Amino acid sequence: MTAPAIVILGNGSLATARSIQQVYPDALIHGLAERVDGADRVYSEFGATLRQLYQQGTPIIALCAAGIVIRTLAPLLLEKGAEPAVLAVAEDGSAVVPLLGGLGGVNVLAREIAAALGVAAAITTSGELRFGTCLLNPPKGYQLADLELGKRFVSDLLAGESVRIEGAAPWLDQANLLEDQQANLAIHVGNRERVPAPNELLIYPKNVWVTCRPGAQLALRVREALHDAGIAVQSLACLLANDQDMASPELHEASLDLGVPLRFAALADADDIVITAADEPLDVSLIGRPRGRLAVIGLGPGAAELMVPAVKAELARCTDVLGYETYVRMAGPFRADQVQHCTDNREEMQRARHAFELAAQGRSVVVVSSGDPGVFAMAAAVLEALHESSDPTWQQVDLEILPGVSASLATAAQAGAPLGHDFCVMSLSDNLKPWSIIEKRLDLASQADLALAFYNPISRSRPWQLGRALEIVALHRTAETPVVLGRDIGRPGQTLRVTTLGQLTPDQVDMRTMVLIGSSTTCVFPRAGGGEWVYTPRWYGEKPAS
Ligand code: SAH
Repeated sequence: MTAPAIVILGNGSLATARSIQQVYPDALIHGLAERVDGADRVYSEFGATLRQLYQQGTPIIALCAAGIVIRTLAPLLLEKGAEPAVLAVAEDGSAVVPLLGGLGGVNVLAREIAAALGVAAAITTSGELRFGTCLLNPPKGYQLADLELGKRFVSDLLAGESVRIEGAAPWLDQANLLEDQQANLAIHVGNRERVPAPNELLIYPKNVWVTCRPGAQLALRVREALHDAGIAVQSLACLLANDQDMASPELHEASLDLGVPLRFAALADADDIVITAADEPLDVSLIGRPRGRLAVIGLGPGAAELMVPAVKAELARCTDVLGYETYVRMAGPFRADQVQHCTDNREEMQRARHAFELAAQGRSVVVVSSGDPGVFAMAAAVLEALHESSDPTWQQVDLEILPGVSASLATAAQAGAPLGHDFCVMSLSDNLKPWSIIEKRLDLASQADLALAFYNPISRSRPWQLGRALEIVALHRTAETPVVLGRDIGRPGQTLRVTTLGQLTPDQVDMRTMVLIGSSTTCVFPRAGGGEWVYTPRWYGEKPAS
């Protein structure tokens, strides 16, 4: 299970939170900024934080009124999908209320927490109350065959029928079941393929692995082989392949299709498909090793709402996070089991190589950039490191670049649509390119009447470059050309300013500013409520008839 997040709103809950943390040492205490001293993580917005944790599938223990938690998560509850456990615990530890995630083990958590606090959990699930366990939520390593059939089965049991247990179900030893070898109802645990009968609760142990090689239609062939052996595909725990074949798309497709992880080991010329069954459910983490993963992600400008869901999911699953400290902090909170490797902003190639070294060991690594990772950020550095490397294990890493909302686009959206027609994106930093090429590009892009977006416009070590750049632009644009300055867009204290080329001076700009300069067609008009809209029309030359 993922370690839960303990969320508190004030110092009054800290003692209770610490008692709960003793039960789950990996759980982090998330405290409201300026209200809580000594939390493991600080958040500023309760609603956004809770929703983000929920969407990442992190179990939530909120030390506040149940109603607050319900109202906060309500907008997300209609989205179907795996639901993490969510509990409300009274600030003083006097009540433990499981709210959501019955199949995610919420009642188990509630009982554990209640035991630690010396109170009774407010369990309301009838099956759970009667049997002391959720029959529809077998422990890790087991899979229920059919949830709907299962619900009927549980209501029959609740109606008072007795049950017999077939196969090994050690977790039911403690359950309050009315057992009878002659019973009509049966709980059946086994890896044989069978059609669940209406009077049985069929549970598959995940105790089978298949050794295989890449090849066409692999998933289909694995299914057929399991079927021929009379083994249920639900009992398959993982596929095991030779580590030389780590990057094989056929293996990857088969693992997705079968819904089981791929593991790798040095196998001496493996046979095509070999089925092996164990007596007990397998701990997949002990079979071979996984293919390492390296994701270069873009956080967007800063606000959680502007981070793409694929990036959120990647942050939730990764084992290691690398990046400039500010961005790593922005990407958090992280669990105690996730390793953070913070480095100075300038050590980009070193960071890229470190990321590959970790991923080649089988870890799941994330390299963070702000905005989009492919825009003056880490993605190109990571690819450069891979291109230069002759290490075959780096080539085997599952490398993916996940996009983000770049600062120019986030700023443009707030101003209207200044980049609504052709535009040009430039970094004014001459750290990695000669200033002469920057001047040449500025000259040609301005001449071509492209709207311009300047990244890295100015810094303490580059004080004069922006002034010179504006002189070049002014050779081709009028003083009335609209200019948008976005500072810390999507972050606390953001500012947006609309001005003109004639009025723009370098002292209005710093390294946290995005500079957008309009083309000859860019217009400005007042917006209701104050300020202006800025846009560049879609057409050029003569306005088309509409
Ligand atoms: N990969 C980033 C850009 C990194 S270069 C992206 O796609 O956005 C760093 C420059 O981006 C800064 O000097 C600034 O010009 C701009 N920038 C980054 N975040 C910003 C923000 N939130 N608001 C305004 N400008 C920002």
